[in-house]
Amino acid sequence: MLETKTTNSYNPESSAELILNDLNIGVFQFDSSGDIVFLNEPFKKQINHNIQGESSEAPVNLISGDFNHAILQKIASYIPDVLEGESQISRDFCINDNYYRLEVRASGTTGQPYYTGMVTDITDSKHTQLKLHNRQRELISLMDNLPGMAFRCKYDEQWTMMFLSRACQDLTGYSTDDILWNQKLSYKDLIFPDDREWVNNTVKKAVRQHNRYQIEYRIVDKQGRIKWMYEQAKAYVNKEGEIEFIEGIILDITSRKYAEKVQRAVGLIAEMSMQEINFDNEKYFQNVQNLIASFMNAEYLSVVYYDAYNDQLKVLYSSDNIMLHDLKEVDDPKKTLSYKVIKESKSLLLNSEEIKGLENQGDIKIYGKEGEQWLGIPMRLNNGNKGAVVVQNYESEVNLTSEDLKSLELIVHQISLAINRKDAVDALANREKYYRNLYMNLPVSYQTLDESGKIQVVNERWLDLLGYSNHEVTGKSFGDFWAAEGQTVLFRAFWKNFINAGYIDRQLIKIQKRNGEVRDVILTGHKETDQLGSFIRAHLVFVDVTVVVQAEEKMRQAKEKAEENDKLKSAFLANMSHEIRSPMNAILGFSDLLRNPYLEQEKREVYIGLVHERGEDLMRIIDDIIDISKLEAGMLKLQYEQVDMKKFVGNLEMSCRQEQKRLKKDDVNVAVECEPEIYDLNWFIDSVRLRQILINFVNNALKFTTDGYVKINIKRKGSEILFSVHDTGIGIPKDKQEYIFERFRQVDLEYKTAGAGTGLGLSISRNLAEQMNGEIQVESEPGKGSVFTLIVPFRNIEAKSEEKKQESAEAKNSDKAHKSSNPQIGVFNLVKDDVAFIQDAFQELNVQLIPLSSNNYQRENIEDNSVIPDLVLLGCYSGDDKTYDHIQFLKKTYQKIPVVLLLNRVCKSEKDKLKKSEIDDYVDMPTSQELLKTVVEKYLNG
Ligand code: ADP
Repeated sequence: MLETKTTNSYNPESSAELILNDLNIGVFQFDSSGDIVFLNEPFKKQINHNIQGESSEAPVNLISGDFNHAILQKIASYIPDVLEGESQISRDFCINDNYYRLEVRASGTTGQPYYTGMVTDITDSKHTQLKLHNRQRELISLMDNLPGMAFRCKYDEQWTMMFLSRACQDLTGYSTDDILWNQKLSYKDLIFPDDREWVNNTVKKAVRQHNRYQIEYRIVDKQGRIKWMYEQAKAYVNKEGEIEFIEGIILDITSRKYAEKVQRAVGLIAEMSMQEINFDNEKYFQNVQNLIASFMNAEYLSVVYYDAYNDQLKVLYSSDNIMLHDLKEVDDPKKTLSYKVIKESKSLLLNSEEIKGLENQGDIKIYGKEGEQWLGIPMRLNNGNKGAVVVQNYESEVNLTSEDLKSLELIVHQISLAINRKDAVDALANREKYYRNLYMNLPVSYQTLDESGKIQVVNERWLDLLGYSNHEVTGKSFGDFWAAEGQTVLFRAFWKNFINAGYIDRQLIKIQKRNGEVRDVILTGHKETDQLGSFIRAHLVFVDVTVVVQAEEKMRQAKEKAEENDKLKSAFLANMSHEIRSPMNAILGFSDLLRNPYLEQEKREVYIGLVHERGEDLMRIIDDIIDISKLEAGMLKLQYEQVDMKKFVGNLEMSCRQEQKRLKKDDVNVAVECEPEIYDLNWFIDSVRLRQILINFVNNALKFTTDGYVKINIKRKGSEILFSVHDTGIGIPKDKQEYIFERFRQVDLEYKTAGAGTGLGLSISRNLAEQMNGEIQVESEPGKGSVFTLIVPFRNIEAKSEEKKQESAEAKNSDKAHKSSNPQIGVFNLVKDDVAFIQDAFQELNVQLIPLSSNNYQRENIEDNSVIPDLVLLGCYSGDDKTYDHIQFLKKTYQKIPVVLLLNRVCKSEKDKLKKSEIDDYVDMPTSQELLKTVVEKYLNG
């Protein structure tokens, strides 16, 4: 048991002692000599336990005592501090991982001081404290190792930093101390001025909503470089709801941002290059430059290439006026940095020192203003050209980095691709243009069709041939232009075959022009496919072979005709022999009978009548044959004469009746109707041939009519006389109405029975009508009857001559000097034959013929001619324009002398026009000498 020194001042029985014993704290008291005067129970227990074996009686002196007990030892070591004057001490100590706190305080009176000590076991709290400390250390080291900068700042305008991890130095270039508590500068000062406001707004908004926020912005670091920051943070709010601070982390994302920009630029340039580009266009390179400038300094950018042929550096684009200016000085392009890059095909990033070094080595020559940095990237082009993209830096603050070099290489690669692509596209376009031109200008029609046979492209020749314009045909099916019947079905079949076969070789088809005209074309073409055999388009060409086809057709027809003619001739000969033999047989037979001297008179007369009739038939046939032969030889000339129409019509009627009788058509009513005015006409016509035509009509009408009537109608219509022969006979089918005018043609052999005929009548009639400047028209309906009409132009000589009589007389009187006893007829513009014909006509008369010019054309000869004719015969062939000139000229020269036109092959409308001109009269050629003489005499005698 440990003994304590007993003092007066101390009463162990006091209630305080009891309390002290209850405490879990060791409490002891000692006096100024170091003797322990009190120990409470807990302390005793603690020490007893530890001082086992020590004498319980020995007083404990804390100064002299030599303790085995570790706690007492520790306490004793601190006691001198108290005794030497410190009024109180507090010391922590550790024994075997247990921590204790000793607190000693002096108390008592000055004369008799004593000291109270307390030993508290603080092991638990000490361990907690240590753990806390370690955790803090760990946290700091964690923060220091973070990829960014951890921070805690005030929620104020300056973003006053309360804590910053060490990464601050790397990120900003400033030490934490520089920024913490705004010592040198605030974090706000670091933020790039343009970004400050919106950083402020964004953070405030997030804080208000108690949200964690992420934000990207720029700062300017200590070296003045702009850096991109990523900040993620959250505000912390105290119990009162006030914002205490913002805590978070800031990362340097400059590299990521740079990579993003490069990537974006490369992407956009690639996209831009895919579009229509024109490298002569500044705009393309300007855009490229702007995109490059988004991630690096590219203020002075140029695109150059080396023109080996001219040994020149050429500038494709440049925003670098300094370089453009300097290039003018370049006398040796091979000594430029650009050439070095181009030649070595290697990118170069050089600073001014390195440039000088190269110059000193003699590799290059420096032209013009020296830059701080020079960056060149080679550009390799497919077309063999080589170039470079050059960026120069003339300011020391801006720095081009090796990263910039790599990025620019990516961009230049894109530009090269674009240029190469453009070259390829150009080459393709040129080729296409070449072929297009070739096809478009082909002298044949060319077209391309899509898979369904619709037209895509046609050339000029195509449009010319079919008469369409481009917009009318594109998109239409080629089949729409086929002329065949059922064209759609036909074309579909054709197209199916074509697609299967892949080509078409010289197929003859018919196409229809816009105006409906049909052309024969030969079609050739092939199908264009891709490598997999899929249809791309069809190329078809065609040539118009209509002329050839027509020629072939004509030849075929000619051949057929020749064969037909041959047949016809044989048929004709057979027919003729029949036609001639039957009357001949009858003549021979009856004349033989007539030889009988005992023949009865009555019979004899009948036989003689029959011989006569058959003889007439024979004559008719022979006449026809002679006529057609003459016509074929061009020897049948009309004999014009003055005809008394009254007489003519009377004779015609008689002949009709004779025909009726001859053909034994008593049942048919024959009549002639004639307009009364016709009888008064005084007509120059070949009455024999006129009658022949009409009798042929009547003859046919009678032959093919069994009952009903045959009626001749004669009337005048304007300047024409119409002779129509109507019948109520068998009629003529429409398709035969033209055919019967051909020689030897008859509608049908069965009609032969209706009446004998040679098949020559209508052919002769038409020919004669044409010679009379007239025509024949047919109207007919099978079973009902036919109308054959002969239309012949008519002119009343009397009427015309009356008009002129007066004028002519006056002219003659006033121009007596020129009037000679032998009338003179001037002939002008007449062909030899006509002159001979006129000469012949006037041979026996007292008339002189004077050619007005040696060669019919030179008018000046007329002026030279001293003889003035009494009348001029002016030739007119096919109504050429010169005729009007001649008329005017003659009328001007000879004034009142009559001019008579001799019209050869002049069409009706032209004739009408001429008649209205200054001429005095006209004669249709060919004409009869009589008619010509009558006309001429009218003026000469008048
Ligand atoms: P031909 O009468 O001598 O046979 P044409 O040349 O006069 O020769 O007539 C040719 C053919 O035209 C006749 O054979 C006949 O078939 C047909 N034809 C002519 N006139 C008539 C008519 N009025 N009615 C019916 N058929 C006619």
